[in-house]
Amino acid sequence: MTTPHAYRETAFTNGYEFTQGAGYALPEYPFTEPPELKTGEVRRHPIVIVGAGITGLTLACALAKLGVEAVLLDEDNSVGVKGASSRGICYTQKSLEIFQRLGVYERIAAKGIQWSVGRTFAGKDEVYAFDLRKQSNFGLSAQPPFINIQQFYIEGYLVQRIYGLGHVDLRWKSRVVGFKQHGDHATLTVETPAGNYRLQAEHVIDASGSHTPFHAWCGATMTSRRGDDRWCIADVRFKHRPPIERHTWIEAPFNGNRAVWQHLMADDVWRIDYQMEPNADPEYVSREDVVRERLQQQFGKDVACEIVWVGPYAYRSQCLDTLRIGSVFFMGDTAKIVSPFGARGGNTGVADADNLAWKLAAVLKGRAPASLLDSYNEERHEAAAQNVQVTNRTARFLRATDGVERLFRTAAIGLAKQHLFARQLINTGRMAVANTYTHSSICDRSGGQSVQNVAFRWADGKAGTNGTRPGAVGTMNDLLEWANGDLLVLVFGDISAAASQRLRQLGSHAPVRCVQVIGPDTQARAKEHIVDPQGHVQGSCHVFGHAWALVRPDGYLAATGESVDAGLIQAIGQALGVLKDTP
Ligand SMILES: Cc1cc2nc3c(=O)[nH]c(=O)nc-3n(C[C@H](O)[C@H](O)[C@H](O)COP(=O)(O)OP(=O)(O)OC[C@H]3O[C@@H](n4cnc5c(N)ncnc54)[C@H](O)[C@@H]3O)c2cc1C
Repeated sequence: MTTPHAYRETAFTNGYEFTQGAGYALPEYPFTEPPELKTGEVRRHPIVIVGAGITGLTLACALAKLGVEAVLLDEDNSVGVKGASSRGICYTQKSLEIFQRLGVYERIAAKGIQWSVGRTFAGKDEVYAFDLRKQSNFGLSAQPPFINIQQFYIEGYLVQRIYGLGHVDLRWKSRVVGFKQHGDHATLTVETPAGNYRLQAEHVIDASGSHTPFHAWCGATMTSRRGDDRWCIADVRFKHRPPIERHTWIEAPFNGNRAVWQHLMADDVWRIDYQMEPNADPEYVSREDVVRERLQQQFGKDVACEIVWVGPYAYRSQCLDTLRIGSVFFMGDTAKIVSPFGARGGNTGVADADNLAWKLAAVLKGRAPASLLDSYNEERHEAAAQNVQVTNRTARFLRATDGVERLFRTAAIGLAKQHLFARQLINTGRMAVANTYTHSSICDRSGGQSVQNVAFRWADGKAGTNGTRPGAVGTMNDLLEWANGDLLVLVFGDISAAASQRLRQLGSHAPVRCVQVIGPDTQARAKEHIVDPQGHVQGSCHVFGHAWALVRPDGYLAATGESVDAGLIQAIGQALGVLKDTP
């Protein structure tokens, strides 16, 4: 029998040590002997990504989409964590928008579950309910606020998409076991079933998750913290489906007054997370008879269900001091580790990948200086620190210590049942959002926000991708796809002949694509123009009236301004890292 000590180990590995249930059938990908092993030659590659989890795969897919060559190494030959767990389940609007651009969203939407209603309970009472669809900040995107789907499905779709796109050499059963940093490149040693080999990389992306060896190899420094909060997941298929809503109990009478989460995922599988006692034994709490007893406490003695998977977990919070050391970039769980509350782990790994992909592409294609890559740390470290802070607050609310913290929580629950204002105090997880960049040297003070994937009308079929018809509906992502890794200049409203001429010149001399955005009654002057009948494109760019917005390939605003003049040229230079502004 395992002692509670094993849970402490689980806590620090942030992983799963035990499983029960039938589990999931996951794909296996073939190992192919790499050219280095055949020839003995040590080749140099512009980009080597270590780790084909959700982060590494998103980066590889985004690079492939932009036609950039990369090698992707993974020690395993499947998706999911060591072939067993469903781990991440909840994917937010920004991630879904990114997946739409990468060409895997349709499959995610078809397989996953859309939800927007959440209910929070304490004891037998509902404390409050919300409907995300009614919250204006989510309403305009072509993607829903959230989709629930097992993480390994997304990973599997990304793998297939990468195979389809080409450009990326996906190497399974390839564990990085050695690393040496040189001036302008690094050497990696890779262990495979056919033997070890070495390769060189100009840019190494460490997406190898919370066990990464690169922290030690690079001498990375970080702030790391772990508590004694313990959980146990049950992935369950019921005979009679509960409502498709997110239910959260801060204090569940059927779980010793500890917290419980309940969500539906794909394949009619429910993810139920039970908070355990701090000294719980992970092996005991994940035993099938104990899990069944817990399910009966919640759903009644006669509950008919199949247990698909069980996994006890604990978490730590960690944030690196810098996300770039020499040629190594840290992303996903190697950059930061957060508690799962708010679905900020995988979602922000996806955003890390999307942030670096276009920058690497711009630098490798000679469209921007290498210094553009420094902005990755500026932007994503700010996001990482924020996500760690937000999730730490939730963790403290859910595992309130005796004394002031618990008194505060009890008072907050009491107030929230009666008063709207007090609902803000209930913190069962602040769901992941697209982080805003306020310290970035490549964003103007007017920029740094994410632009939603809102709809517009094509005015001219030629402007659209795939031969879109005049009058057909397009979205912001169509414009980004058309820009193909270049910056997008959107100019709103009437423009003068001189401004139109300047935009044409800009389009032929700088890596930008210019589009005029007009209202239904405005005269178009630019060849490339779209109609924004309800002002959604303008609203998503946070500008009013006559204005321009400079949108980056990752759907972030670099800057906004009023007239098409030197200010726009300056903003383009800044966004490409040519001119550095004081943040
Ligand atoms: C219970 C739980 C629930 C969660 N829920 C959510 C959620 O709803 N939404 C969400 O967004 N996030 C969620 N998360 C967080 C999310 O699962 C992680 O943040 C995410 O998996 C991190 O992805 P990654 O690609 O950075 O790392 P990983 O998924 O850990 O992938 C790392 C990859 O690197 C490979 N690797 C490791 N070492 C090496 C090496 N030396 N050489 C080669 N390859 C190597 C591994 O095989 C693996 O494929 C949850 C986490 C937990 C524990």
